[in-house]
Amino acid sequence: MKQVDVERLRQKLEFQRHEAQQFLRRMDQEARSLDAEAAQDSADQCVISLSKEALFERSSQRRTVLGLIEAALKRIADGSFGTCVGCGNEVQDQRLQALPWTQFCLRCQGKLEDKIGASLSTRTPIPATAMSRRAG
Ligand SMILES: [Zn+2]
Repeated sequence: MKQVDVERLRQKLEFQRHEAQQFLRRMDQEARSLDAEAAQDSADQCVISLSKEALFERSSQRRTVLGLIEAALKRIADGSFGTCVGCGNEVQDQRLQALPWTQFCLRCQGKLEDKIGASLSTRTPIPATAMSRRAG
């Protein structure tokens, strides 16, 4: 992958990292306001615990993505970005453009998903924006 392209992806990743951090901060705030509501007798405890569960689910997915983004930025810094951690071959440029934080080439990702099973792979947290431009 060309240096100029890596730089572009780095900027993209940094933007996505910023977004993910802001999202998680918002989730924290929402969780706190739910706690405040829960402290009041009139609040519906059941609804609140369900909302907290949903919040937790959403933020843990985003946290996973954030971890991948940070790992990708680290790989850019140490020069190993674009190399598949599974087989050591280069990850296709097109794939990196669509999913800059990916660690695997298409082949390894395919093998991985076969192993985990199709039902689980559909739950991989991929933001909708990346999904629509995902390279086959
Ligand atoms: Zn590979």
